[in-house]
Amino acid sequence: MVKESEEKMVSAPANTATVLVVEDEEALLMAMAYHLRREGYEVLTAARGDDGLRIAREQEPNIIVLDLMLPGVDGMGICRALRRDTQIPIIMVTALGGESDRIAGLDTGADDYLTKPFGMRELLARVRALLRRAHSQQAIEPKEDLLRAGDLELNTVRREVRRGNDLLHLKPREFELLLFLLRHPGQVLSREHLLESVWERDFNGDERTVDVHMRWLRQKIEPDAANPSRIRTVRGSGYIFEG
Ligand code: CA
Repeated sequence: MVKESEEKMVSAPANTATVLVVEDEEALLMAMAYHLRREGYEVLTAARGDDGLRIAREQEPNIIVLDLMLPGVDGMGICRALRRDTQIPIIMVTALGGESDRIAGLDTGADDYLTKPFGMRELLARVRALLRRAHSQQAIEPKEDLLRAGDLELNTVRREVRRGNDLLHLKPREFELLLFLLRHPGQVLSREHLLESVWERDFNGDERTVDVHMRWLRQKIEPDAANPSRIRTVRGSGYIFEG
């Protein structure tokens, strides 16, 4: 039984990612910028390739939607230039739907491809998918020994967790759960996702198992376990680790 006081409503996080759109067709540029902003993204725009490349370097957006045929530098030129020193995800947009153009675009380092005409919903879905992919790669990459959040410190080598100067006694599953939370701060994590990630893949567990472990973990890491501020319950969705 989860006490009502442990339940807190948390609204869905805003899409704070920044999207750079480089497109010389003004109507299309405006439409893409409008729909992306409406989804909550920060949007930067450029109508010329050289401007797009400069903005990409200066502002370091999280993702670029890049037209192929552009005045100044074309999309492939931008892609090649950026790939020399960044891994910013790029969706190439083009009127040319031929397979050779598609392959050439992907060869220069574009991560995905959209052929005109396309619907705004498709654009949004591709942006979302690519951001999610980039984000999960970042989440897996760090191989650091120490993960910190506030006064919590988790040592992956010694498998120890400290809160301030106190060594916490976590059971193995609680440790794995906390490690997963520390690696995914600020994300809504469903019980199903947590079961798959923290428990064995074939674990036939009940999603209530997650609630039970969260409860135990809260008793160890929360300043006030009855009124949790680090691990928040997102009603109907799961949990979010606030740090
Ligand atoms: Ca164009």
